[in-house]
Amino acid sequence: MYRSSQDLGRDLLEWYYEHKRSLPWRQTKDPYKIWLSEIILQQTQVKQGQAYYERFVKAFPDVLALANSDVNLVLKLWEGLGYYSRARNLHKAANQVLIDFEGVFPNNYNDLLKLKGVGPYTAAAISSIAYGEKQVVVDGNVIRYMSRLHAIEAPKNSTRSNILVKKAALDQLGALPPGDFNQAMMEFGALHCKVHNPLCMECFASNQCESYLLNKVQDFPRKKKALIKRERFFNYVIVHFHGKIAIAQRTKKDIWQGLNEFLLLEENAKSSVAELEMSLIQKWNLSEKIKLIQDWEIQTLSHQKIYSRFFIVKINASLLDDFKMYNFVSIKDLRKYAYPKSILRFLEKNKLHLK
Ligand code: SF4
Repeated sequence: MYRSSQDLGRDLLEWYYEHKRSLPWRQTKDPYKIWLSEIILQQTQVKQGQAYYERFVKAFPDVLALANSDVNLVLKLWEGLGYYSRARNLHKAANQVLIDFEGVFPNNYNDLLKLKGVGPYTAAAISSIAYGEKQVVVDGNVIRYMSRLHAIEAPKNSTRSNILVKKAALDQLGALPPGDFNQAMMEFGALHCKVHNPLCMECFASNQCESYLLNKVQDFPRKKKALIKRERFFNYVIVHFHGKIAIAQRTKKDIWQGLNEFLLLEENAKSSVAELEMSLIQKWNLSEKIKLIQDWEIQTLSHQKIYSRFFIVKINASLLDDFKMYNFVSIKDLRKYAYPKSILRFLEKNKLHLK
């Protein structure tokens, strides 16, 4: 029999009351302690997080104790969790509560968002659990459960997926207690609708879970497609004249704007050394030999893969007109300019000799 979203929400809550783990932050409605637990759990698993939580609560029983503490003590207690800016933010946020909220922990979603280090997820968790505000949390567990239940095609963490997951969660929440419901969704994702081997055979939602009915549970949530990086091939030619090397600043709207480089010949694919030499000899009617100093090396950027190789060639005065836009600098002054990493690496590895 098909059940409405709110029926599913009720089933989920029943499941939670029966299966939930007994955790110290579940025994309290104190927003300060819930906040501590949420920040700690963003860094570690429940089991390890519990020890940290207890240490923090013992050292700083309330938000004022935390605000009045030495930040170094906070960092010390945080030791081992990593990402130390979270610990500093805890201390800063406690001081915000002291100063901006006169020592009273903010009691609604919008005010909670004003605290340092508190984003939509944490604000929704605290406001729903401590104050019963109608907010839903969207974390990895919730995304997994809702994406599987509704076979959401949008890749996880995309704007569209977040909107759909949030809407699905709100539909199930209905008039249920928001704090318990949020914890139920997270606990269900952690213990039942798990990343690997979810317990579909004994799931209250299996007869209308779309991914299960499609036999594609492990395909959800959809992953973001791996970004295909654009490949570019940079032939740098170190052109020198009378003991000086031609460099120019990159001015176009492209990577490395404002940095300097040698003469650049960009290609769509790797050409052979002989092909490149031939094209330069023809272009400039060169009598001097072009020499390859360093073969292809890769620099990986977020969206591009840059292959660079370096040649050197001496020119005569008749070609200077072609280099009006370049600066001719001595080897000694070369390092006074800023370069992309690939060129810096090249300069570090190679001693240039200009004959
Ligand atoms: S049937 Fe399986 S995939 Fe669907 S909600 Fe239940 S545990 Fe998750």
